[in-house]
Amino acid sequence: MIRPALLSALLALSACAPGEEPAPSGASLPTVKTDGGVEMVLIPEGDFDMGSERGRDVEQPAHKVHVDAFLMDRTEVTQEQYEKFKLPNPSRFKGAALPVEMIPWTKAALFCNVRSKAENLEPCYNEDTAECDFSKNGYRLPTEAEWEYACRAGTKSDYSFGADGRRLADYGWFAENSGKKTHPVGQKKPNPWGLYDMHGNVAEWCNDIFGKDYYKTAIARNPRGPGDGEMYVLRGGSWKGSAEVLTSFHRVAENPGFSDACLAPDTMGFRCVRKPAPAKASAGKATGFVTSDLFLEHKTPEGFPERPARLEAIVKRLKDKGLLQELTPIQPAPAATEIIAACHSPAYIERVKKACEGLGEKTDHIDTGDMPISAKSYESAVNAVGGVVAAVDAVMEGRIRNAFCAVRPPGHHALREKAMGFCLFNNVAIAARHLLNKHRLGKVLIIDWDVHHGNGTQDEFYEDGRVMYFSTHQSPFYPGSGSAEERGKGKGEGCIVNVPLEKGAGDDVFRKIYDEKLKPAALAFKPDFILISAGFDSARADKLGRLDLTPEGYAAMTRKVREIADACCKGRIVSMLEGGYNLDALADSVEAHVRALME
Ligand SMILES: [Zn+2]
Repeated sequence: MIRPALLSALLALSACAPGEEPAPSGASLPTVKTDGGVEMVLIPEGDFDMGSERGRDVEQPAHKVHVDAFLMDRTEVTQEQYEKFKLPNPSRFKGAALPVEMIPWTKAALFCNVRSKAENLEPCYNEDTAECDFSKNGYRLPTEAEWEYACRAGTKSDYSFGADGRRLADYGWFAENSGKKTHPVGQKKPNPWGLYDMHGNVAEWCNDIFGKDYYKTAIARNPRGPGDGEMYVLRGGSWKGSAEVLTSFHRVAENPGFSDACLAPDTMGFRCVRKPAPAKASAGKATGFVTSDLFLEHKTPEGFPERPARLEAIVKRLKDKGLLQELTPIQPAPAATEIIAACHSPAYIERVKKACEGLGEKTDHIDTGDMPISAKSYESAVNAVGGVVAAVDAVMEGRIRNAFCAVRPPGHHALREKAMGFCLFNNVAIAARHLLNKHRLGKVLIIDWDVHHGNGTQDEFYEDGRVMYFSTHQSPFYPGSGSAEERGKGKGEGCIVNVPLEKGAGDDVFRKIYDEKLKPAALAFKPDFILISAGFDSARADKLGRLDLTPEGYAAMTRKVREIADACCKGRIVSMLEGGYNLDALADSVEAHVRALME
């Protein structure tokens, strides 16, 4: 049973008194009883400082992390819960209410799948690769960030009850009070969010691979650990542990037990988490909107077409027409370097960063004369990628159906090693890679209706085969690529579809192309997700382009893309701003596009 009133009251309280420690007991969060009869706590979305300046090197630096809402078992998984599924109980200390121990990570993950299937939820773990699919609604191990966030429960001190380790005996079982054994779960006081045994009894597996230096480069939004490594994260100390290892931030690396030769110690247990049931979004709110004042900080010289005023015009229009409040806002966070590095070399990323450093009030350019940069261009670009990725994640997690991202700088001309044509990082290509790599999707369709050919995007996927790139663009025109003969190569053969257009094409020509070329190609390809490189420089009266599209034309194209998305991929679309330089035409076109996404 969810009690939203209680939750909002608690959130309001913490919003009014930042930094204040919540009462050590009393205020607890709403809970749900699962179909399997287990109590879970609904942990609200929020921010916290992960790690500690008082911690060891691997626990530093403390850094801001955002975690989405999730459900977490109120207690560690008990032997009764475990044996219910006819699984052999590995524990040394036997007892129905005692936590399961001597359990390797692999068996804990397997239990999550068994538990999911028993409740008709989608299992998260691939049982061959141990890969976790976060888009599924089944049980899984918590990420390390989720675990620490839940353990801290809004506190910043060493323990969730304060800094005084002498009070540990009230909250957990550890070396000094355990009598050298585990104890039934839920006997001690819970933390402020109603979770038991977070400081002791048994240590708990997290889903993440352990990264020694992970905090130094960590992602700010729902971090999920490094991509590979031998060891996995264990959290929370145990009946054997000293007070120091029971802190909220303590983390250790342990062997996950992929090889059977390794026996898990009698101090290792776990608890499960899963996604909350999706909130019933009201019709309009199913469309997300990404923007940020940070994108205005990418300054370009006086008179340059790609300028901050473009975003101001878009946001003003959506606000004036009352659309903004009907959209679900999605906050961008800086994309981790590893996400950007899916499409750009680390050397290039570093080069962009360095080029912007120390520019002060000046602007300069990088690589080509048409790529101006200012002091905060790198930060804007990293957040533009982060915003698009956050929108993709929100769609994959079912929080929204589709999204429009009003970001700067644009991306579709950016190459692996080179900035060009107003673009630093290739937002759309990185989003596609993120869908393939992190969300494990099989196929992504990119539709590019910018007046210019997206040479960077085409290059990235020319021989890939998992990404179809469909572009309409004026020809001959900048950047010169994009002839119909460029069709992809090797595995990518046929996955590049270029439709060069003469000046003045207009709505009807586009309508015909979308019906006769895009739709059949897309339905044959069967994408799992659709990304739009939404350039509005194909609009009538644009300063650069001459393709003469009206707002109605953009709306019709958007509806056609939605039709394809509904047929192939549950309506999943993330659209992002590329060009569009006449402010009135831009605002008119974006308004029409966003309205059609919301319909
Ligand atoms: Zn363009």
